[in-house]
Amino acid sequence: MPIRDPDRETTTAPDTDPRFDVPLRGIAVDPETRCAHWDAPVDVVALRFGCCEAYYPCDACHDAAADHEAVPWPRERFDEPAVLCGVCRTTLTARGYLDGGDACPACGAAFNPGCRKHRDRYFED
Ligand SMILES: [Zn+2]
Ligand SMILES: [Zn+2]
Ligand SMILES: [Zn+2]
Repeated sequence: MPIRDPDRETTTAPDTDPRFDVPLRGIAVDPETRCAHWDAPVDVVALRFGCCEAYYPCDACHDAAADHEAVPWPRERFDEPAVLCGVCRTTLTARGYLDGGDACPACGAAFNPGCRKHRDRYFED
């Protein structure tokens, strides 16, 4: 997988990626939040973690860029922004993302439908 792209940046704690308005870290992150682990056209969301409140393209990015165990986004905060669309940079609430379809409600960008299989890694049950 092409991770030597000059548009890609790796950011590890305590720094965050200056290209994004929200605190975001990850490994070989491209301008639409694809990463070293997930870089298909539809891999354009970053997810916020309850432990450090930063956004990461995936849990493998969290584990590589952070220095602690990942904690999914807590259920009592599902009405707060917890998902970033990398295409239009809109943040969605956890509930908005989980209840929505597999596309960004703001720009219509397709999201990876396979992410739902991993929802327990990102959102508390
Ligand atoms: Zn964390
Ligand atoms: Zn990743
Ligand atoms: Zn969008």
